Amino acid sequence: MTTATELYARALGLIPGGVNSPVRAMKAMGLGAPIFAARGDGAYLEDVDGHRYLDWVLSWGPLIFGHADPETVEAVVAAARRGTTFGTATEAEVELAAEIVDAVPSVEMVRLVSSGTEAAMTALRLARAATGREPFVRFRGGYHGHADPFLSEAGSGVRTLGIEAGGEGRVVDFNDLDGVERAIDGAACVFVEPVAGNMGVVPPAPGFLEGLRRLCDESGALLVFDEVITGFRVARGGAQERYRVLPDLTVLGKIVGGGLPLAAFGGRADLMERLAPAGDVYQAGTLSGNPLATAAGLSVVRRLTSDVYDELERKGERLDRGLTPFGRFERVGAMATLFVDDYPAVFRHLLERGIYLAPSQNEAMFLSTAHGDEEIDRTIQAVADFFA
Ligand code: PMP
Repeated sequence: MTTATELYARALGLIPGGVNSPVRAMKAMGLGAPIFAARGDGAYLEDVDGHRYLDWVLSWGPLIFGHADPETVEAVVAAARRGTTFGTATEAEVELAAEIVDAVPSVEMVRLVSSGTEAAMTALRLARAATGREPFVRFRGGYHGHADPFLSEAGSGVRTLGIEAGGEGRVVDFNDLDGVERAIDGAACVFVEPVAGNMGVVPPAPGFLEGLRRLCDESGALLVFDEVITGFRVARGGAQERYRVLPDLTVLGKIVGGGLPLAAFGGRADLMERLAPAGDVYQAGTLSGNPLATAAGLSVVRRLTSDVYDELERKGERLDRGLTPFGRFERVGAMATLFVDDYPAVFRHLLERGIYLAPSQNEAMFLSTAHGDEEIDRTIQAVADFFA
């Protein structure tokens, strides 16, 4: 018996399904224990039994410089020595807010929170308060965290597990502008992942994001981009920089926290000033703007120069060339999905060869600067071997 199977057996009696987030489970891949991580470095993850995996999951997106990036670790350790939480304002929060406002084209003011779920939930609350409207439009297969309004027909683990949850909002197909036009009347906002990443990667059709902007302007709805995945990933300024369409509100997470629990939402100053204590829309958090998380976020975001994105794009193109022959390969910048008929079989084939893809085709594979040509080529070869 391996340590992982032992831990999993124990976990099943202590933690529902043995995991603290359903996407970690291997059930949909026909396997038992999830990977029990012991340590990571760069593009590699090592489990409790000493297996080493080339990691394309990267904690679901935050680790753009790979695992245990020395500068991030250094920054977090230094911050921890000064205190792990204060529950009052800090300089690093102001610095990180300034970095976000500088990077993300539409964001004039920002608030830091601890998870994408919180950020999305509050962005919706704010859009409703600002417009005085309750309904909103969102997309089938999108994911905005696990707050009640977003769960029906959602992507990510909801879709992988086939869970039918309640939810709110008028749900439309991604890239279906006509559908949005029919649904938008009286809506507070259109809530969208500008590049869908939770039903596998689906790029926006040409004109789709521009069309959303126009329909929102015509109807008085706010446009909310959920850039939890795309922010600092498809460009420094996220999808709104890459596609040059500016939303009213933006939800951020993952990379902005450098691998610690931090997320954010921001946008037009007149909207953001509706938040308490400046305004009357309540939102709060004991650990919001946590000093360890802001230290990690700052150390990462400050190094995201155009060179980083050029490098990731070049690596992405290498993946395109290698994987396109084997299925539908969708990629935008440093996020990608290989859509194949029998994904679980491909997943297991790769895992046996020490390559860890997300245990669901509804998720993206994430490139980091730590993924070199060797890692890319080894992955392509393993996929080729499967199909040979
Ligand atoms: N929005 C998007 C687009 C996401 O991908 C996720 C999580 N994968 C969330 C929101 C929720 O973020 P969190 O898991 O930090 O609550």
